[in-house]
This record gives sequence, C-alpha cells and structure tokens, in this order.
Amino acid sequence: MKIDLHNHSYYSDGVLSPSEVVRLAKKEGCDVFALTDHDTIDGLIEAQQQADESDLKLIHGVEISAMWSNMTVHIVGLGVDINNETLQTGLKQHQEFRQARAEKMARGLGGAGVFGALEKTQAIAKKGMITRTHFAQMLVQEGVCKDMKSVFKRFLTGKKPGGVGGKWAEFDEVISWIHAAGGKAVLAHPLRYRMTNTKVKRLLSHLSGAGLDGVEVVTGSSSADEITLVSQWTKEFDLLSSIGSDYHGWSGQRVRIGHLQDMPKVNKTVWQDWSWLN
Ligand code: AMP
Ligand code: MN
Ligand code: MN
Ligand code: MN
Repeated sequence: MKIDLHNHSYYSDGVLSPSEVVRLAKKEGCDVFALTDHDTIDGLIEAQQQADESDLKLIHGVEISAMWSNMTVHIVGLGVDINNETLQTGLKQHQEFRQARAEKMARGLGGAGVFGALEKTQAIAKKGMITRTHFAQMLVQEGVCKDMKSVFKRFLTGKKPGGVGGKWAEFDEVISWIHAAGGKAVLAHPLRYRMTNTKVKRLLSHLSGAGLDGVEVVTGSSSADEITLVSQWTKEFDLLSSIGSDYHGWSGQRVRIGHLQDMPKVNKTVWQDWSWLN
C-alpha cells in the first residue's frame, strides 16, 4: 500500500495544478494521497474530480501555519470536511494575514532596492495566495539571488529586508479548527524547525495537551535515524504516525510523490482508523 499524506499544488506554493498532482500521484503508484496546501482547501474540489477519474483515494487535507511559543509550526489536517464553517473562517483569517504580510514584505524589499516586488510576486502566484516561496521565485527571476536557499538567507527571514514575523493563530486554535472539521491534526516535519530535540519534545508535549493526534514520522527528506527518533516520540506522547513527501514540484527538488521510506511496522498510523482502507 503506497500512501503519501503531504503534497502541494499551485493553490499554495506547489508548481502543478491539483489535477496534475493527482495524476502524478497515480502514475507514481500511490493508493492513498492527500493534497495539503498551505492555509487553503480551495484546490480540493478539482483534486477530487481528478481522483474520481483516476480511481485514486484522495484524503482532503490542509497544512495550516500556527504559532507555538512565538514560532511558526505547521499542522496538517487530514480528512477534513471542506464545508465546515469553523475551518473555512480560520483559513480565511490566515489568507487575509498572508495578503497583509505580503504587502509588508514588499515594502521591506523596496527599502532594499527591489521595486515592484508585490506586483511581480502576484504575477507568479497562480491562485492569489502569496507565500514566501513566491517572493523567493521572484527574487531569483529578477536576478537578485541565484537560488531559493540564498533568498531565504538574505531576505525572507528574521530581521532581513523581507522578513516579517508570523502572526498565525495559536496551535491550540488551529487544532480545534481541524477537529471541528472532523479531521486528524498532525504535526508536519518535526525535525525541520531549527529547534533542538529537547525543544521539539516540548512542542510535542504542548501540542499533545491541546489534542494533537499525530506527527509525521516519515517525510520526503527523513533519514533512517530520524525515523527511529520520531518513532520513539510517538510512543512517548501517544501519537499516531503519519507519512508524507511534502512534494512541491520545484525543479531541483529531489522529493518525489509516493517515494518514501517505509513506516516502522509497530507504529500506530493515522490511517489505522480509516475503515474503508482496512
Ligand atoms: P510561508 O508559509 O509563506 O511563510 O512560506 C513557507 C514556505 O517557504 C515553506 O512551506 C517552504 O516551502 C518554503 N521555505 C521556507 N524556508 C525555506 C528555505 N530556507 N529554503 C527554501 N524554501 C523554504
Ligand atoms: Mn511550502
Ligand atoms: Mn511545512
Ligand atoms: Mn508542506
């Protein structure tokens, strides 16, 4: 059974349309696949149409930005009802914040001599949602930086010209939106937050206290040691294990849909309760 529960389309910062991502997932041999765009569920209708045609099981997902201890973390909602008003209202709030943040980032970049940043970035964002990835693409396209990595280093973080603080909803609120919509709340890529392991464990402990259901044990970039480590944490905090590539489709990205290391057999998985699967 090939399962990949973390993927992006151009409704956030992925390259492909929802239909294209679903077709690619099918081609790569996925049986179960989740589309999890940043702070939006708008791509899921198109994805569902394609999934029906392709005979692929689509999980309705979303990757929501959240604040924990003044830092941004990502919480994936899996199996959400896209018509749920609590979830829709929360995501709308995040989309508005993204717009205001984009304007602020563009002003910061203007101060550093990059003019027309908002208009140029909007032209790249296919569906109106602006992420830092779109700013990064713009800066590479304009020849300001040579690649995405150097953009984030020079411009889009901390006190740099295009750096702005996150002011997303708090983690407990985000988890409650996902639960209101009937989904499972899963902490995305736990080892990618520039935190010490001790701090990640504190994060897991706080989020578990707020009802977190699971954590991504296997991601597109996990090493065997990392899988073992996060597996141990799932036992410590009694969390379900999830798996997802975090595919965006950028050129040069090694990650491929459905090409993931195996989940350790003993783990309790997020899909163990999906009766249609078992
Ligand atoms: P945002 O949610 O708009 O703040 O954008 C975050 C997105 O930017 C993440 O989902 C990643 O896809 C991307 N990103 C963040 N940091 C980096 C980095 N250092 N290099 C490349 N991409 C990054
Ligand atoms: Mn992204
Ligand atoms: Mn993420
Ligand atoms: Mn992601």
